[in-house]
Amino acid sequence: MAEIVLDNVAHSYDGGVTYALKKIDMTWQDGKAYALLGPSGCGKTTLLNIMSGIIKPSQGRIYMDGVDITDKPTEDRNIAQVFQFPVLYDSMTVRKNLEFPLKNRKLPADEIHRRVEEIAVLLGLENDLDIRPGKLRSDLQQIVSLGRGLVRSDVAAVLFDEPLTVIDQNFKWTLRNRLKRLHLQTGVTLVYVTHDQTEALTFADDVLLMKDGEVVQTGSAEDLFLAPEHEFAGYFIGSPGMNFLDVDVTQSLVTFQGIELGMASEAGLTGSLRVGVRPEFVLPGGKDGVPMKVQKVENRGGFQLLKLGLGDQIIISKVESDVVVNEGETHNFVFVPERTFLFDDKVKRATVAPAGKRR
Ligand code: ATP
Repeated sequence: MAEIVLDNVAHSYDGGVTYALKKIDMTWQDGKAYALLGPSGCGKTTLLNIMSGIIKPSQGRIYMDGVDITDKPTEDRNIAQVFQFPVLYDSMTVRKNLEFPLKNRKLPADEIHRRVEEIAVLLGLENDLDIRPGKLRSDLQQIVSLGRGLVRSDVAAVLFDEPLTVIDQNFKWTLRNRLKRLHLQTGVTLVYVTHDQTEALTFADDVLLMKDGEVVQTGSAEDLFLAPEHEFAGYFIGSPGMNFLDVDVTQSLVTFQGIELGMASEAGLTGSLRVGVRPEFVLPGGKDGVPMKVQKVENRGGFQLLKLGLGDQIIISKVESDVVVNEGETHNFVFVPERTFLFDDKVKRATVAPAGKRR
């Protein structure tokens, strides 16, 4: 296992006209589980393929434990990769497919046998070891592919490119948990590409949230949810995502269409900015807060989504099922101060608290 460093790495597929991956500097710590999360086309696979050696970056260097591996081919990098669709030899049984990476490393026969049995149990393949992959359902074939990626215990990192796409929804949960368990047991560095926030957030220690070829925020699931550094983290993470309001800031006073929302925590911010607040932090305020008209109440089983009118905009509030509000009523709602953010050019600059609560 190893520490992998990306130094000033970027990649363009068209000779520098556009960059699929903009400049990234990053250290992948030995033994951590990472997720690359973002919408289709944001550069996740490009970044993964640069690490595995499938793509040579048009700029920058890659180091593994201090050794420059930028020019090394995939097979010399000691990295395993699992793709979106099964990559298997159908002329061999499942067992032989799983043995293959170990035989290549010339491991002793008894160790090969032990590892293959272990991985087969972990992935539920014990009864399929002696048949050819072509005889298995496509999702089971993909699980064999996963097994091939995981069977070596001496790899520097295992890279997964949306490996569960073809797996049945119910089994996805089981597999994700088993992968997580395997990670905890072995301490191997895992990098996992996905566009599914639940998958990323349940799986990874650190999530790299990507947009348009850039990492906009790196952090835990909690960081991305509670302390988004970029509007995109507010928008992409959460269900539903963050509410945004175009506000005016004058001498720290934040107003939306003439309605006072509070004071910015940082002086010096001024003009047209955006406030972002998650539905979970728009709460009934009793005698405090801003009056909003309840336009719709949706019971979602376990919680309610309220659509609230503020100025000419709809604000979404996510509240417990036992909160009693009715459509057509007007109630005060508060934006929880430490969870209400002021963004300037999409980047978080301050929080917003009611006047008198400025911190
Ligand atoms: P997806 O989730 O759809 O796989 P992604 O986030 O993995 O997307 P990439 O596949 O890395 O994104 O693609 C990033 C950008 O680079 C996209 O605009 C894509 O069209 C472009 N791209 C990817 N591969 C190539 C290629 N071989 N040649 C030219 N452009 C490419």
